[in-house]
Amino acid sequence: MTIYKGNFVWTSSPKQFESLEQGYVIVDDKGVISHVGTHIPPGYENAPVVELCSGAGEYVIPAMNDLHVHAPQYRNQGMALDLELLPWLNTYTFPEESKFSDPDYAQSIYSRFVYNLWKNGTMRAAVFATIHPEATKLLATLFDRAGMGAYIGLVGMDRNCPQELRNEANTIEAQIIDLIHHTKSMPLVSTIVTPRFVPACTPTMLSIMGKVAQEHHLPVQSHLSENKSEIAWVAQLEPESPSYAHVYDKYGLMSDSSTIMAHCCYSQGEELQLLRQRHVMIIHCPTSNVNLGSGIAPVRQFIDQGIRVALGSDVSGGHQLSMFRVIQYAIQMSKLKWAFTDKQMPYLTLSEAFHAATKVGGSLFGKVGSFEPGYAFDALVIDDSALSGWDKQYSPLQRVERCVYLADDRQIVRRYCQGREIPEPQI
Ligand SMILES: [Zn+2]
Repeated sequence: MTIYKGNFVWTSSPKQFESLEQGYVIVDDKGVISHVGTHIPPGYENAPVVELCSGAGEYVIPAMNDLHVHAPQYRNQGMALDLELLPWLNTYTFPEESKFSDPDYAQSIYSRFVYNLWKNGTMRAAVFATIHPEATKLLATLFDRAGMGAYIGLVGMDRNCPQELRNEANTIEAQIIDLIHHTKSMPLVSTIVTPRFVPACTPTMLSIMGKVAQEHHLPVQSHLSENKSEIAWVAQLEPESPSYAHVYDKYGLMSDSSTIMAHCCYSQGEELQLLRQRHVMIIHCPTSNVNLGSGIAPVRQFIDQGIRVALGSDVSGGHQLSMFRVIQYAIQMSKLKWAFTDKQMPYLTLSEAFHAATKVGGSLFGKVGSFEPGYAFDALVIDDSALSGWDKQYSPLQRVERCVYLADDRQIVRRYCQGREIPEPQI
């Protein structure tokens, strides 16, 4: 059990921030919060207290959760953004991903990737690897060694992609089961079923992956309705399906409320209804959507219809691993949609976007992303003395706003995941 003292700011609900100045958070031996309050409760008076905010500019926020990111695209981060999705995949992304057949190459890129997630304050992520089982297991090991949380996906793809990036529908089941065994002893890392997207997966591949997800009670991640050419292609490949999402549903990939779908820029009507019925979580990736010219997802509509929306960096379609920047883009893109299309639909607020990156994204991992009893203590200590701390007039909310718009990794001074302080990973 540990008692932390500090200035805590978080969002229990999307509507507003909550803050506790010079308050106490008690964390049990499993890393779970048992008490949040202004005083130390009776019985704990003599326990040692860890002071998280000794400096004038320090406060504590929940750690970030990145729910859509491609580890093997890390080397392409911040470049090769001059094409739309489908030519971008063929020209830049598939050639880079094919290099992960080499475990040494995977080690060199994946260790940098995990290091930089840590650096940017992302303590948990849902990650696409590649088709390569050894490199994918290595990625899981790197997260586990770092003490960070992850769902790791061995990617299934067996059509419309280069030969060297195809795996076989009849071997994917055994490979996923091998990954499940590999991650079994890892407390914060597990397996997620990961068909790349409908154009790259034959019906056989999709149905086997759906069967594995159901038999092993695994969550599923994929891409959905990101780009208009992609959607037209899916309609051609699967003419009987009333929508793109129905293809995943038909193969059992959206069945037990733990499916996350990235993008959904053009999800509407029947497709949106299906996502709602199946309790699918939409992962909004605003940096990627603007970089690849995909579109602006109607996030307000999703939220108003009761669909959960979390955020993803989608590196390397997205150029930033920092979830502060992803929150910022989510708000800015939402304002553009409001200004250019429908002023009846209010744009995202800061607390809504922050809540998406913390508590909504965290819900994939259990009770994660908030400072409430029962939640894992995942936290970042921010030292904003260079940004706001010099001005005592700033409120806690104003300081968090400046953090989202102005801070980078230099302002993150300590990181916690499941109650443990996470040291700098070794590359
Ligand atoms: Zn993606």
